[in-house]
Formats: sequence, C-alpha cells, structure tokens
Amino acid sequence: MKEIKSPQKNWMYYGIIAAVVIMLLNIFLFPNLMRPQVQEVSYSAFLEMLEKGEVGQVSQDDVQITFSDRSIEPKYYKTGLMDDPDLIDRLTQAGVEFTRSIVEPASPLISFLISWLIPIGFFLLIGRLLSRQMGKAGGMNAMQLGKSNVKIYIESQTGITFKDVAGQEEAKEALWEVVDFLHNPAKYTEVGAVMPKGVLLVGPPGTGKTLLAKAVAGEADVPFFSISGSEFVEMFVGMGAAKVRDLFKQAYEKAPCIVFIDEIDTIGKRRDSPAGFSGNDEREQTLNQLLSEMDGFDGRKGVMILAATNRPEILDPALTRPGRFDRRIPVELPDLSGRVAILKVHAKKVKMDSRVDLTRIARAAAGASGADLANMINEAALRAVRSGRKVVTQEDLEESIEVVIAGYQKKDRVLSDKEKKIVAYHEVGHAIVAALVGGSAPVHKITIIPRTSGALGYTMQVDEEERFLRTREEIENKIATFAGGRAAESLVFDTITTGAANDIEQATKLARAMITRFGMAEEFGMVALERETDQYLGGNMVGNCSSETQGRIDQLTVSIVNKQYNRAYQLLSDNQRELHSIAQVLYEKETITGEEFMSLLSAQPRLAEGVETGQEE
Ligand code: ADP
Ligand code: MG
Ligand code: ZN
Repeated sequence: MKEIKSPQKNWMYYGIIAAVVIMLLNIFLFPNLMRPQVQEVSYSAFLEMLEKGEVGQVSQDDVQITFSDRSIEPKYYKTGLMDDPDLIDRLTQAGVEFTRSIVEPASPLISFLISWLIPIGFFLLIGRLLSRQMGKAGGMNAMQLGKSNVKIYIESQTGITFKDVAGQEEAKEALWEVVDFLHNPAKYTEVGAVMPKGVLLVGPPGTGKTLLAKAVAGEADVPFFSISGSEFVEMFVGMGAAKVRDLFKQAYEKAPCIVFIDEIDTIGKRRDSPAGFSGNDEREQTLNQLLSEMDGFDGRKGVMILAATNRPEILDPALTRPGRFDRRIPVELPDLSGRVAILKVHAKKVKMDSRVDLTRIARAAAGASGADLANMINEAALRAVRSGRKVVTQEDLEESIEVVIAGYQKKDRVLSDKEKKIVAYHEVGHAIVAALVGGSAPVHKITIIPRTSGALGYTMQVDEEERFLRTREEIENKIATFAGGRAAESLVFDTITTGAANDIEQATKLARAMITRFGMAEEFGMVALERETDQYLGGNMVGNCSSETQGRIDQLTVSIVNKQYNRAYQLLSDNQRELHSIAQVLYEKETITGEEFMSLLSAQPRLAEGVETGQEE
C-alpha cells in the first residue's frame, strides 16, 4: 500500500551539491588561488619602477594596468588607471613591451546565460533536492502544488478473507451484505433497497477493524482503495482536500469499488472541538471535501465507503448523519468463545503441543483484544524457541499471558530480601482476601517474580465463566481484594509501601464508578454523575454535576474504599496463621499455582470463619 522510494541516488545529489558549494567558496573567498599572485601598488610606485627600469611587460585594460618586473621569476603588480597622456612616451622610453588587452564584450547570449540561466538552474536544482527531502518528511512535493500525489491505493490481493477473522460474527454478517451488494447490486435495486453509502467500524484498538476491512477487500473481488486518515493530513493547506478529491475521482473510475479510510477520527474530528487554531483549517477543509464527495455520489453506482475508528464520539456529527456513515458496526472485545476462536486462528501459524488447552488460556486472558491474543501466541512461540523447543507448550502460553498483560519477567531486577518478603505478604494478602470474601474469581496463580512493567508481584484471578453483570457485593469484594495487599503489609510489617499504587488506583476507580455510574449510592440513586468518553480507549470520566456534588462523591469514594480496606484488614488479622505460612511458601518458591494456594489455605485449621458480606451501608 505504501510507495517505496529508492534511496540509492541520494548520496550522488549530496556529492554534487558539496562539490558546487566548495567551488563557489573557492572562487568567492579565495580568488587568488585561481590566478597568479598580483600585488597592488600605487601609480607613483609604478612610475618610479618604470624610471628605474624595473618594469618588464605592461598591459592595460579598461580598469587597471598590470605589469611584471624583470626578475627571472617575474612578480606581477597592478595599479589603477590614471589620466596620464605621457604614459605611452614613458613606456617607449623605458623600452618596455606594452599592450592593451582587449576585453571582448561578451556576446549578449553568453552573458545572459551566465547571469540568468546558470543561477536559476542552480536554484532549481537546490529547490528540487529540498522538496524531495520535504516530500520524504511530509509526503508532499513542493513542485507539485495543487496536484496531490495520491497513489492508487488498490489493495491488490491481501489474501485475507473472513475466515481469518475469528469471532466478530455480527460484524462479518453486516459486512457480508456490503460485499454481496457490490457483487450483485441488481438483487437489491430490484426491491428498491439502497445500500448505505458509508459503513463505520467502531471498537477498541486491536479488535480487528483493519483486519475486517482487509477481509472485505479479499472477499469483495472489486477494487479496494485503502488510505489512513493521517495520510490526509498534509503539510500544505489544501493538499488534504485535494487528496480526497483525487481518491474519489479514482474510485468513480473504478466503481463498483470500496474505499476504506482507516483511523477516520484524524480528519473527521468534530469541527468545533477545541483543538487550538493551528492546522484546524486544513483539517476542516479536508473534512468538508470528504462530506461533499460523499453527498455528491450516487450510492447505486457502487462506491462503498468503509471507515474505522476507535473514537466514534469525537466524530463530527455531519459524518454520522444519514446519507453518510449511516451504518455503524460495533467491533467489540471478544468474549470467551471469541477469544478461543482467535487463539485457534493464530495457533495455526505455530507448532503447538497437542496437549495445549486453548480454552484455559482464553479464560485466563479475559479482556484481551484480538491483537493481544495474536501477540500472546507469538510470545509463546518466541519463548519456545528461546528454551530450544520445537513446539509451543501450555506453559509457554501461560507465561505469555503474563508477558502481554503484565510485562516480561525481569531477570536482572533483584529484590532485597526484605522487599521480597513484603511483596510475598502483599500478594498473599490479595489472594487470601479474594478467597475469603467469596464471589470473587478464584486465584489462578501468585508470583513474586518482578515484571518489566514495574509490577513486583502479581496475583492472577481467573473467572470461571464470563461475567456481564456484577452485583454491588461483588464490586465491594473486588475493592476489598485490591485493598488486601496493603492491608497485609500494614498488618505484618506495621508499615506501608509504594507497592500498592496500582491497587489503590483500581479500587478508587471502582468505588467511584459505583457512585457516579452504577447508581449504587443511596443518596444519589439512579443519577448519572459522570459521563464516559473514549469508551474504547480505556474510558475517561467527565464530571456531570455541580462541584458540591463532586465533593460529596469524593467523600463517599473515600468511605467506600476505607470500609473495604478495614474489612480486608480484619479478614487478614483473623487469618494471620494462613497469611504467614502461605507467604513463607511463596517467598521460597516465588510462584505458586491456584490449586497449591487453595490446598495451603484449607490445610490450615481455620481460626475464624471470616466470611462476611458487606451488606449494610
Ligand atoms: P484495529 O484496527 O481494530 O486496531 P487490527 O485489525 O489492526 O485492529 O488488529 C491487529 C491484529 O490483531 C490483526 O492483524 C490480527 O492479527 C489480530 N486480530 C485482531 N482481531 C482479530 C480477530 N477477530 N481474529 C483474528 N485476528 C485478530
Ligand atoms: Mg486499525
Ligand atoms: Zn497489589
């Protein structure tokens, strides 16, 4: 899809430029290098030398007299012309050879060449080279203003079909209709159905939007123009719009065809969004051009516009209104069966041990996108190679989940003994609280091997089944689990560390969402106090209430988190014996599995059945 420029010629251009520059420097700065040394003397000195008979040859031109002395290796002198009628007599007397050098008036053609063409040619050359460089940087050639350099972005044969896209059944179905329409439009026009002009794929990053579009290209059997939104963003005003115009011109010529604009939010941003003023005009022009192109063509001709974005809410409303991108296809994160399917697709590309259980992996990778899963398979394969094996094992895959989710194991980070102990207690604190509060996902693995992501330890919980609804108690249990790490540190070492930063962040987020989004605080009831933006990019909360309410939300958040912290603390102090013994095992082994953890936990004679649920509030 990208044009490839050959870089070989470059050094030659640089060479030529350098040579020319050096030559010019020589001529202008050191003119004497180019001709014999000529010393400038006064006219009287000239006359004196003439009288003494020291002058050899004399020649005069329109501006000066140049003469040599009589030594064997003559030195040259020059002096300015004087209005001296006796000069010729004096020269004859002194017996000096003298001439008047004839400066031929340059022919008008040649002087024109020298004074105009050469400098112009020189500057053109430099200009070309510069614009070439700029073109590399900005995708634009200054010599071609107004003419956009749109390539024909035909995806010849991507080789990707719908089979390569696992899960995403609804999206595939909707897109299949599009493909079918392009294949045989008569079927639709007979009934009077008109295809939507534009189809917008929306969803979080890595869920396969670009992949789906490529699959459409593979299935469609019609020309497929693909361009990324950022390619419209140009260095010169008007270029983006010109590109849009060009793209559609080519598309009309090739209709029926599909035009795919990836990352359309780059140009399709809401026009009134406060983005500062620079560069805004250009984007607006590009967007306007796109809108008018979309209005201008007749859907029945068979140009279908496909676009993808992970920030649909910032798109200009004009783009999403009927007649433009009026069909919106959500491409969501895969559910369990989707994850299994995606893992299977990618597992085909590597050699797998026959005992590998992909469902188990998919279950542990809740929340992972298609791209994450593809990455996991690849990481597992790399790990297999590193350990000199020919097939990927279950263990490789399990490790790769952690790599993708929590970063690499960091081999060279050595925790001090004391630190390691604290981390062990911290993680076991999470795990015990998770096990005791009930209703929380079972512990899958606990490890205190540091990760490159900065996590010093890691307690992995895996839901037995997919969860779509959570009760208030479950959220509270989750907050208590997050608090368990810090509570254990505080209980055992009577001190607290920075290691809980991430837990704190997550607990706070949950507590706040309970109040502002889930309507779980009695005093606010079912009122949305915050609005989510960028929902596909992790989500950003925007307050939707007065500042007094904000203050109250903060108070309530603190009280929810504190209550769960106290609960976790209580649970741990009721089960101190387990805490100590399991932390000791973890400290020694560094990693224990969920089963080991559960057997350790139940092996201990329980002091108190500390399972309480935080119903009241
Ligand atoms: P997006 O454009 O939504 O950000 P991509 O389409 O670029 O995501 O996906 C990145 C990669 O993730 C793909 O190249 C593919 O390897 C993998 N992937 C994502 N979703 C799927 C899926 N549903 N099936 C198979 N592979 C997927
Ligand atoms: Mg993409
Ligand atoms: Zn923690």
